[in-house]
Amino acid sequence: MGDTLEALRRLQTVEVQLAELRRDREAKERRIEHQRRLVRRADENLQQNEHTILNRQMRLDAFQLDVSSREQLIDKHRQALNSAKTNKEYAGILTALNTEKADNAKLETEMLQLMEEIQALKEEDSVISTNREALQAEVAKAEAALSVFEKQSRRKNETLLAQRDACSESLEPTTLSTFSRVAEHHDGEALVPAIKIHPKRDDYVCSGCNMTLTMEVISMLQSQGTIQVCKVCERILFLEPV
Ligand SMILES: [Zn+2]
Repeated sequence: MGDTLEALRRLQTVEVQLAELRRDREAKERRIEHQRRLVRRADENLQQNEHTILNRQMRLDAFQLDVSSREQLIDKHRQALNSAKTNKEYAGILTALNTEKADNAKLETEMLQLMEEIQALKEEDSVISTNREALQAEVAKAEAALSVFEKQSRRKNETLLAQRDACSESLEPTTLSTFSRVAEHHDGEALVPAIKIHPKRDDYVCSGCNMTLTMEVISMLQSQGTIQVCKVCERILFLEPV
């Protein structure tokens, strides 16, 4: 039992380092994903702007057509004014002409507004595009950081894996599988001491999750019988030598 605990302790030292490497790598991968997400969001904004600009441009074109045809009508009305035979006819044509002019003025105001909107959207686009370039550079930087990390940690990882195999050799398969399963859930820390919380009483807790341990578990640990796991967090328990 003492040998098993010793092997588990060595295994834990290795597992904790492996978990640290894994966490480092995952943090770097998350960073890449985060930056990529920002680039995608910029792309979506650009696409949306493009769509809005196109929409405004189409309305602007339609208004332009409308204005042109009204201008032709206005020309016609002007010519008709010259050949008007009565005052009444003249007045009628003048009213029609003024109505067209007023309508065109209204359309031109709306067109001006549309043009301003398009201009603002284009300016926004150029800001987004500049930001996007910076974000894309951040993606490249994050990817480079991961690749450097992988290159640098490869040997360490291989060494640790070899050490893990060596430490595992002397362990019972069931003990090893319990250890591996728990280690995976607790960043390599599968082995924790049972702690005495009262100097005069035999009250112990699991130092992994702080749950009280039964006397049955403690006496098994004291007699170094079999592997004992915390029933709550499933970590493997041991007693620090007194
Ligand atoms: Zn526990």
